[in-house]
Amino acid sequence: MAYLNYINGQFVPSKSGQTFNNLNPSNKDEVIGQFPRSNQEDVNLAVSAAKEAFAGWSATPAPKRGEIIYLAGQLLLERKEEISQVIAKEMGKVKAAADGDVQSAVDMAFFSAGEGRRLYGQTTNSALSNRMAFTRRVPVGVCALITPWNAPAAAIAWKLFPALICGNTVVVKPAEDTPLTAQLIFEVLEKAGLPAGVANLVQGYGQEAGEALANHHEVNLISFTGSTEVGSHLNEIGASKLIKVSLEMGGKNGVLVMADADLDLAVDGVVSGAFSIAGQRCAATSRVIVQSSVYDQFLEKLVSKTKVLKIGPANDDSSYVTPIINQKQLDQVSKYVEEAKASGAEVLTGGEVLTEGEFSKGFYYAPTVLTNIRVGDKIFQEEVFGPVVVVVKYGDLEEGLKLMNATSYGLTASVFTKDSAKGLQMIDRIKAGVVYLNAPTFGSEVHLPFGGFGLSGNSHREAGSGGIDVFSDWQTVYLDYSAGIQNSQMKK
Ligand code: ADP
Repeated sequence: MAYLNYINGQFVPSKSGQTFNNLNPSNKDEVIGQFPRSNQEDVNLAVSAAKEAFAGWSATPAPKRGEIIYLAGQLLLERKEEISQVIAKEMGKVKAAADGDVQSAVDMAFFSAGEGRRLYGQTTNSALSNRMAFTRRVPVGVCALITPWNAPAAAIAWKLFPALICGNTVVVKPAEDTPLTAQLIFEVLEKAGLPAGVANLVQGYGQEAGEALANHHEVNLISFTGSTEVGSHLNEIGASKLIKVSLEMGGKNGVLVMADADLDLAVDGVVSGAFSIAGQRCAATSRVIVQSSVYDQFLEKLVSKTKVLKIGPANDDSSYVTPIINQKQLDQVSKYVEEAKASGAEVLTGGEVLTEGEFSKGFYYAPTVLTNIRVGDKIFQEEVFGPVVVVVKYGDLEEGLKLMNATSYGLTASVFTKDSAKGLQMIDRIKAGVVYLNAPTFGSEVHLPFGGFGLSGNSHREAGSGGIDVFSDWQTVYLDYSAGIQNSQMKK
């Protein structure tokens, strides 16, 4: 089936006349659909539609905008089953994980809708008499939202709904691996009664449609989630135009296992953090730092649990480790592990592409535990985005902390211990934007900010108050009722 872009309230084909195929990673012979391979002309049309719609949408009272967003949330909830199935098929995660993805989108719609009745600014005193002073949030303008494939519904919703409630208009360029989820979200927006041009969808490749969108001179803000490489590039584009760029990028997320931890809990936390959805999360666990007195015991438990994880397609609810999104990503995972092996890493389990029998239909990599790693190794430092975890030993807590922080990323981190006070003392000193005690390194709630330090982002946050901050500018208002000309610096 052939799908379309959504520009100015109409589903339309690309001006390029070209399409690309969307494949099922659990069964690469299955083409899910053809999607428009958008070009500069499509982007121009989408941006001018967004620009045109801005005056009307930004003048619509925020609570009214919220009503439409609330309805969109309800419609997403009504279509949750269908959207989850699409995500399971095109992204390749099991239905339960896809359900979570859609629920997160619904939650963000409801959170943003409620925000329409807040969008709080500050009221304060003026330094002059007969004068009021306050601040209010105003929209930024036309926002380019560029999203990844690993959480196709949530990734769009986490940008779209906060952007809309703040009064912006948007052009969404979703990942080329998960275009159908985006299509369904736009069907919902249309049904919810979002005025034409307020949200536009341009499908296509990052280097064509994405690049054209980011470079468009009438885009006022770029919000991106994806690789650090592309994010840095977009940051440069934004800097040259002096526009706001919000980046949510990779991670090299560590788990600190203290000697007194509940080891079974810690192992479960690492398994789910590292191997569910095949580790394809920016918040996936990729480094485990274990205190030496429990290191052997922890490793034994981790390896034996990992060995029995069921690897299989997304449409089998009993699969735990599902496929990698595409061949390119599979090659990248494999390359990282091969390089690690060559530099001395020991593979305790996994370490291979799976091609036998049913696995030949998709892109599968065995869940992998590596040891004998040094801090400077690439596998300790760079994001793999696959089911691969390295386990490293530490002696005292100072050394453990040093290892936790020995990365240029700083997205999420977790500490497992039964001694909460000691755990919190570690958390105080861990460099990460999101930290957990006795929990895996992923799992975020929509009303709390999400994002990281270092290579993980550029100090902006998604979700919660962070998302509202990104998608609004401040306007400071002085109301003078003195009937004179006053100035706080020139007063006597
Ligand atoms: P991944 O490697 O995980 O797919 P990317 O950073 O390549 O992550 O992609 C994330 C999003 O950024 C996708 O929607 C992709 O199409 C888009 N993208 C990739 N390259 C560019 C680019 N040069 N300009 C704008 N968007 C891009």
